[in-house]
Amino acid sequence: MENTFAIIKPDAVKAGYSGKIIDRIEHEGFTILGMKKVQLTKAQVEHFYAIHKARSFFGEMVDFMLSGPVIIMVLQRENAIKAWRDLMGATDPAKAEPNTLRKLYGANVGSNATHGSDAPETAREEVAYFFPELA
Ligand code: UDP
Ligand code: MG
Repeated sequence: MENTFAIIKPDAVKAGYSGKIIDRIEHEGFTILGMKKVQLTKAQVEHFYAIHKARSFFGEMVDFMLSGPVIIMVLQRENAIKAWRDLMGATDPAKAEPNTLRKLYGANVGSNATHGSDAPETAREEVAYFFPELA
């Protein structure tokens, strides 16, 4: 069993897609080990996306992640990291496979509905940062 960190981003929460996304998570065999609805702080978002600090879209992305509450989760499954990234689809919803969450619920590369850890090390770090009780 593997754990990964997931976010339902502000666009999807605002649009009322949280329930559909959580339903899909359970249907695809993930166990939700932890879940909180929170308004992230600027410091949290800047820390979380620090790897992208030099990118041109950084400021816009921080503003977007602060634009409303998000749902943060720890998901468990066999191969959870890859399974969750496959279920989300490509970063750009226009390039995502049919029936993936970003294809269904994302608007564009900035407003793309969900986040998922990209590797075991980042999954561990992200879980530990947001859910120290589950690390
Ligand atoms: N992003 C953006 N513009 C870009 C690339 C990325 O706004 O040109 C945002 C997008 O919301 C993405 C996040 O930055 O989800 C992190 O980018 P990454 O490349 O890590 O994509 P992800 O891991 O989320 O698929
Ligand atoms: Mg990423």
